Amino acid sequence: MTVHWPLDNSYARLPARFYARLAPTPVAAPRLVALNARLAAALGLDAAALAAPEGVAVLAGNVVPEGAEPLAQAYAGHQFGGWVPQLGDGRAILLGEVVAPDGRRFDIQLKGAGRTPYSRMGDGRAWLGPVIREYLVSEAMAALGVPTTRALAAVATGETVWREGPLPGAVLTRVASSHIRVGTFQFFAARRDLEALDLLARHVIARHFPAAGGPLGLLEAAVAAQARLVAQWMAVGFVHGVMNTDNAHVGGDTIDYGPCAFMDAYHPDSVFSSIDHHGRYAYANQPQVAVWNMAQLATAMLPLLGEPREAAIEAATAAVHGFAPVFEAEWLARFRAKLGLTTAEAADGALVEALLGRMARLGADFTRTFRGLGDGSARDEFAEPAAFEAWAEDWRARLAREGAGPAAVAGRLKAANPAIIPRNHRVEQAIAAAVAGDPAPFERLAVALARPFDDDPALADLRAGPAEGERVHRTFCGT
Ligand code: AMP
Ligand code: MG
Repeated sequence: MTVHWPLDNSYARLPARFYARLAPTPVAAPRLVALNARLAAALGLDAAALAAPEGVAVLAGNVVPEGAEPLAQAYAGHQFGGWVPQLGDGRAILLGEVVAPDGRRFDIQLKGAGRTPYSRMGDGRAWLGPVIREYLVSEAMAALGVPTTRALAAVATGETVWREGPLPGAVLTRVASSHIRVGTFQFFAARRDLEALDLLARHVIARHFPAAGGPLGLLEAAVAAQARLVAQWMAVGFVHGVMNTDNAHVGGDTIDYGPCAFMDAYHPDSVFSSIDHHGRYAYANQPQVAVWNMAQLATAMLPLLGEPREAAIEAATAAVHGFAPVFEAEWLARFRAKLGLTTAEAADGALVEALLGRMARLGADFTRTFRGLGDGSARDEFAEPAAFEAWAEDWRARLAREGAGPAAVAGRLKAANPAIIPRNHRVEQAIAAAVAGDPAPFERLAVALARPFDDDPALADLRAGPAEGERVHRTFCGT
């Protein structure tokens, strides 16, 4: 059973200095851990053939499918604010681009596929933990409607990867609208390679922003997409954790799930990443960091924005300033919806902030509080229910001015507030079980996360917050 991969590789047609061509390094004993049959179908791939040994061999990197032109992409980036002129895919290989039946184009990338010229000190491999984490969290984000890369498959390699100790190796098949980062532009800007910058901009316009018209339109569109993305993160309580410019997708998708996490108890200062010592990428900092990242994109694109340089700087600055109004409008729209509101009043932002302030002070669970607005259980999330009730009086008065009946409001609240998110402790439990040879918790969680707005009584444990001993305070990059 051979999988037909409908590949057309536009990135491989860019000049050689955009990447290094090489095939994945084969692994000892590939075994399929997960296959996303629905995503496969959407891509026009035969899921049954993918799950058969020949398909798994491709997903493991042991066989390069016909039509693939495997390569590792070059990029640079600011990591925690520090400039790194050379990064690139150190453990990932782009097989090529699938053109789906609906005409959309997607990168097919194997993450953990072996060393590349960009591996530096790394082994080019991934272990099962981060592969499962990315599979679960990226698919959850997709089900929540947040723009994101996807997970097509996870394969165990039968090899040992050494981190703090021996761990089972794995490969994730990542699907993305592209893997072009702010750091890809920075890579060529730092080398003063104007020709490459121009080609990259044209490529990104064709792929992500066909209406952009030119480099300035591209910058404006990328800024707006980033602003909408981060507003969506805020509305689901997501902390990306490593918002370095090499992890900032130019098309506005969530990319590079490392030490990311969804908050349980709401607090704006929430940070989970073990390497984020100063809370640079804390929940509430994400909009500001995204602006900083967009300023780096604007700086890298300056040579494309014409002469005189002063005029280019002015246009670029204005484009970056375009972030705030888009973010604020999107943030407000999302949180209005979370409160069941469909109309706009001037004090709505303050109403949202008043709730969030109480949640932070009283340790209320972010997801359960919003979900609980619909069924009256939100008050139970507060250490002082009276503090919630005082806020809820204002909220009910505001809802009354909408003139919608309770049933309509309850329906809206359910549609805007998920019941199930990939809680840290559940992800960690799924990983621990999978490493111990039991895939059941992972599989159950994956199924539940695909329907985050459902109220299945059998999944009550997945809706619950962590018990005291289960709480996860730190997450790791897992590279
Ligand atoms: P990240 O923190 O995942 O965004 O990765 C930052 C850089 O380190 C990227 O260039 C990665 O390709 C590279 N990298 C991460 N893990 C490994 C690894 N195990 N082997 C080689 N390169 C890696
Ligand atoms: Mg990265």
